[in-house]
Amino acid sequence: MTPAVPAGPRRIGLDFDNTIIRYDEVFRQVAVGRGLVPADLPPTKTAVRDFLRRAGREPAWTELQGVVYGPGIGAAEPFPGVLDFFRACRRDGMAVCIISHKTRVPYAGEPHDLHAAAMGWLEAQGFFRPDGIGLARADVWFEETKAGKLARIAERGCTHFLDDLPELLTDPAFPAIGGRCLFDPGGGCTLALPFPKVASWAEFGRLVGVAL
Ligand SMILES: [Mg+2]
Repeated sequence: MTPAVPAGPRRIGLDFDNTIIRYDEVFRQVAVGRGLVPADLPPTKTAVRDFLRRAGREPAWTELQGVVYGPGIGAAEPFPGVLDFFRACRRDGMAVCIISHKTRVPYAGEPHDLHAAAMGWLEAQGFFRPDGIGLARADVWFEETKAGKLARIAERGCTHFLDDLPELLTDPAFPAIGGRCLFDPGGGCTLALPFPKVASWAEFGRLVGVAL
C-alpha cells in the first residue's frame, strides 16, 4: 500500500462505533440472553442482524441496538491496537479526535442516553487518563446527524478520517480531504474505492505514519 501522508501537520479524525469499539460479542450475548437468537450463532453484529431480519424481527433488532449501545456498552471492547494507536499519537504529538454520528437516545425501546454511555466507556477504558492516553473530552464529538458529523470533520480540519462505513466516506458531502480510509477488519468489503482500506489499527498507523 502506498503511504498517503500529505505534507504538513496531520489531524486524525476517527469514527467511534465499530471502528474504535467492537460490539460483536455483546450483540450475540445480549441477543442470546433475551432468547432472540440461538446460542451457536457466530459472534458478530452482522450475524445477529441478519438472523433477526430473516425472522421478520426488525423491531427486535432496532431495540437490541439501543440496549447494546446503551447499558450493554460496558461489555464491548476496543479493537486490537486501538489503545496503542492513541498512545503512539500522544507520544508523537499527533492530533486526534473522535467524531461519531450517534443519536442521543435509541430509535426504539428505553430512552438510554447513548452519548453518556459512550463517554462512560471511553472513560472506563482509560482514554481520558492524564497518565495514559490523555485524550481531552473536548476532542470527542457525538453528532446527532450524519450531516452534523460531516460538518464536524471539516470544522476540526481533519487531514485524515477513518470510518467503517463506505457510504459515509463516499458521501458527496464528505469534506475534500486527502486521507479518507475505510476500516474493514473483516476484510469483507469488495467495493472499489478511491481511497485505502485497512484491516487493522496497526495498518492504519503505518498509513498515517504512526508506529504502534
Ligand atoms: Mg462506525
